[in-house]
Amino acid sequence: MTGPTVNGMPIFHLLLASGVLATGMECSKVLRLFAALKIPNVKQRELSNIFKYYAIPTVYNVWQKEQLSRLNEIDGKSVVVASDMRVDSPGHSGLFGSGSTMDMDRNTILDTQSTEVKNSNAMELESLKRQMKYLEDNNVCVTKLVTDRHIQVSAYMANEKPDVEHSYNVWHLAKGEKKKLTKLVKKRKFKSIKPWIGSIINHIYWIGDSSTTDDEREEKWRSLLNHIVDIHKHDGNTLFVECLHGTLEREWLKQGSAAYKKLTEMLTRPRLITAIRKLSNYHQTSGLEAKHAVDNQLASKNTYHSYQ
Ligand SMILES: [Zn+2]
Repeated sequence: MTGPTVNGMPIFHLLLASGVLATGMECSKVLRLFAALKIPNVKQRELSNIFKYYAIPTVYNVWQKEQLSRLNEIDGKSVVVASDMRVDSPGHSGLFGSGSTMDMDRNTILDTQSTEVKNSNAMELESLKRQMKYLEDNNVCVTKLVTDRHIQVSAYMANEKPDVEHSYNVWHLAKGEKKKLTKLVKKRKFKSIKPWIGSIINHIYWIGDSSTTDDEREEKWRSLLNHIVDIHKHDGNTLFVECLHGTLEREWLKQGSAAYKKLTEMLTRPRLITAIRKLSNYHQTSGLEAKHAVDNQLASKNTYHSYQ
């Protein structure tokens, strides 16, 4: 390919490498396309070198400047951060993960730490430790952390970081429960639960956003089991004693029915109750999901570009 050059390198080659990175394409496929069209082009090896010496360092450089300015903005301030992990197995024996931290008030990504380990359990905690350390080293004061439910992470936060309030990402919890309920209602005897799935999931988000204490969250959650059988005053509750809605026309479940028993059993699992009590009251963590979606698009499983 001819055309203008810079220091002896065709500018087109540089543009091609940047274009491949910016669109998340696989270089081997791009080169195969050129070959199929019989368009003379850069060799794979040369393209790899352009990635290594120009394109990837440039991405790092730009990100480092941007990251520094984001961290300067919150220097010494208290922030609420959400952390989430994206795991891939790029073809070799280990797993590759990137854990990102997001400033929830400003809706900006503060940091991404890459981790390579043998199993995903160890990875969540290792990545989180690195993310927390990075923020501490940069004088960011984390007052609250929102993560997915993860036993090792919960234990670590309780033991090692007792001053940081730890809560669970409401989006992640809602998604998990929706999946379980959707599976359950496929059984004929539980199909009367189906019209309630949407309300149950909305209830999870509403609890997250409208509550201030663990007890309030638990009372609101348990009130759902009354509401579903057309009881809207909640005896025994002290913080949430009555539903807030007006008159409703719905297909209420029947107390004592198999469906109601099953639903009660599901919604009062001790592990779920613990999680509901620790539900985050922010649901902007979907910003992190959005980042992972973009990452998946731009850095899909087989297109890791190594740097160094
Ligand atoms: Zn009600």
